[in-house]
Amino acid sequence: MKVDLIIKSKWIAPVIPKATLLEDSAVIVKDKRIVDLCPQEELKTQYIAENTVHLSNHILIPGLVNSHGHAAMALLRGVADDLSLNEWLENRIWPIEQGIVNRDFVLEGTNLAIAEMIASGTTCFADMYFFPDEVAKAAISANIRVQTASPILDFSTIWADTADEYILKATKIHDQYRNDELVYTAFGPHAPYSISDEPLKKIRVLADELDIPIHMHIHETKKEIEDSIAEFGCRPFERLHNLGLITPKLNSIHSTQLLSNEISIMGALGTNVIHCPSSNMKLASGFCDVNSLIHQGVNVALGTDGAASNNSLNMFNEMRTAALLAKAVSDDAAALPSYQALEMATINGAKALGIDELIGSLEPEKFADITAVSLNECNTLPVNNPISHLVYAANSSQVTHVWVSGESIYNEGVLITMNKNQILDSALKWQDRIPKELAL
Ligand SMILES: [Zn+2]
Repeated sequence: MKVDLIIKSKWIAPVIPKATLLEDSAVIVKDKRIVDLCPQEELKTQYIAENTVHLSNHILIPGLVNSHGHAAMALLRGVADDLSLNEWLENRIWPIEQGIVNRDFVLEGTNLAIAEMIASGTTCFADMYFFPDEVAKAAISANIRVQTASPILDFSTIWADTADEYILKATKIHDQYRNDELVYTAFGPHAPYSISDEPLKKIRVLADELDIPIHMHIHETKKEIEDSIAEFGCRPFERLHNLGLITPKLNSIHSTQLLSNEISIMGALGTNVIHCPSSNMKLASGFCDVNSLIHQGVNVALGTDGAASNNSLNMFNEMRTAALLAKAVSDDAAALPSYQALEMATINGAKALGIDELIGSLEPEKFADITAVSLNECNTLPVNNPISHLVYAANSSQVTHVWVSGESIYNEGVLITMNKNQILDSALKWQDRIPKELAL
């Protein structure tokens, strides 16, 4: 059989079947998709490839799925550090955004973020930000997969004035990209405290009709719960449950303040949680009880959040932090073993985004979205346990190759589909435009 690409690798962690590790095997790619995984010794009799890549000290994994972020905020990295969420968001980030966010900001900031994400092994990211069409444009140009969650708020921003206008724009973005192989869409109602009941009901109906996810910051802080009880007489979760939003379509981002009955309802109804451990710790938002969520059957995926609250878009950091934090929070060293942290950063993310039939594992018929990591470094030799090394020991600088739909987008430190110098020049340009009195 003639194929496009054979990637031979010392190790492969396909993620499905669970916790599997293949040795001296290869991934075979044809027409953007994986057609087979087989032992290297069987290759000669079965496949002839246009292009063969030999990776003798590497592990291949599914491209990482960053399930929550605000890519363009890469331009706001280091702005207003060390503040609580409310102080950070309402008194610093929103006023800064009001002053400088426009189409150029989103396109150039997203390009900067994509370059960082590709170089750290991410092949798909979920994004919630203004001008989602610019985010889509940047992703298509870089050949990286994205799910844009169109923002929806009650109040006016540069993107729209009323909740109805935000919703209309979200449906238009969905129409525009409904047949695109790289761009997927979602509704992005910002948070229970920034959007009222009527638009939420409309979003629920539309999400069902269009069969797309709802991506929302939920139970991020204790204050959010207290304010909701004062305003609505109930916790945000109860309000959303009454509105019919607790469904498999919902991606509940952060979720640091869940009661045990809320966790069991989430498990029973199939809601996804997007865990953002670094952002939660940096903003002192609280701890997401990942161990209990997993035990109640909740699909937990992993996100970096924006670079202004992390301050990195590196999913290797996130996997390690998630694995360590789960143990600390549950007082159980067996919580979140390395293979499960890798699942959170791959197949669980794909499932939350509703595209696990297409990506998230190295299996025949899925898109060939693949990341190669060299383990031939001081911090990962000897290779006693490759999947453990990926989560607990490897640095993202050990990513050597990245493919999306079988196309090489990163090769030995070089971005193939992006112009790095241009990205750096654009980023530098924004350095003087952020008001210092709000930034520091
Ligand atoms: Zn966020």
